[in-house]
Amino acid sequence: MPENCIFCKIVKGEIPSQKVWEDENFLAFLDINPVQQGHVLLIPKAHSDYIFSMDDKQYAEILNRAKALSEPIRKATGAKRIGLGVEGLSVPHVHIHIIPVNNINDIDPCKGKKASQEELAKIADKIRKEIAAAKL
Ligand code: AMP
Ligand code: ZN
Repeated sequence: MPENCIFCKIVKGEIPSQKVWEDENFLAFLDINPVQQGHVLLIPKAHSDYIFSMDDKQYAEILNRAKALSEPIRKATGAKRIGLGVEGLSVPHVHIHIIPVNNINDIDPCKGKKASQEELAKIADKIRKEIAAAKL
């Protein structure tokens, strides 16, 4: 695990985050600069640099987790749909952006704006409740 990887530090609890779901191998938490309210990042707990370097099993697993999380996140935000984004140019630890969308240009990385702790806590709570109701 690279010493200075910010997402590895989140996994280890060395940096605070608004976690919404986790299992043994994956973690979902709120992006601190959401492009839309309820913007979630889904990551593998083990450091891996590039999503398309993951083996087929891990790759299928992370996409299946994104699928399972999509409906609870959609319900919590009231969005029309959930969109996914992957590029990882600024944080080289695999992450899938799970983004509530209502309009065609809602998945625009340039729209990211720092959210307050209160805003993040409020939407994280709603998402956690929907995830619990979905029994994930
Ligand atoms: P990218 O690598 O371009 O896919 O973007 C990395 C994403 O991670 C950006 O949307 C950042 O806002 C987000 N990010 C960076 N640091 C943190 C953090 N400490 N907690 C939550 N999200 C973060
Ligand atoms: Zn890492």
